[in-house]
Amino acid sequence: MKLNTGSLLLGVKEYSFVEDTGTVGLDERFTGDVAVLARVEKTQKLIELQATIRVTAKLICDRCAEEIEKIIQTKYRIVYFFSEDDRGGYPVEEIVVLPSENTVIDISDDVRQFIELTIPLKVLCGDECKGLCQICGTNLNLNTCSCTDTYIDPRWEQLNKLLNQN
Ligand SMILES: [Zn+2]
Ligand SMILES: [Zn+2]
Repeated sequence: MKLNTGSLLLGVKEYSFVEDTGTVGLDERFTGDVAVLARVEKTQKLIELQATIRVTAKLICDRCAEEIEKIIQTKYRIVYFFSEDDRGGYPVEEIVVLPSENTVIDISDDVRQFIELTIPLKVLCGDECKGLCQICGTNLNLNTCSCTDTYIDPRWEQLNKLLNQN
């Protein structure tokens, strides 16, 4: 995923990249290709890149442990300046100063990092996921079990004993 800044003309241009997840450096949670749509605007002083990323991830549901495929979409912006003196008005984390006006920008690392930041901390196969039975491990989305009918939480059992004593 490379942009040759020297050969870019002034103005706005759109690029699309499609690359294998492994090539971009993503781990085995990701499958297929990473698609990046990059809007690149070049002025005398800078190149502003706005990238929209799309990739498929295989994630494990926190409740039922089933593997699910989720499409991860994210976007980011980075502004590449030709000179240290010109930067201004942009958040520091979005700024890169290029070593020269004629250079090759490889966006693969940024793409990988922004994808990794987008992975949700909590993964659910669906809002309605019933999860696994705490006792027998049955996936309650697929089956039912009779555990909950007879099972008494040990904490309640203790409490019941105390109540019966009085
Ligand atoms: Zn689930
Ligand atoms: Zn059960």
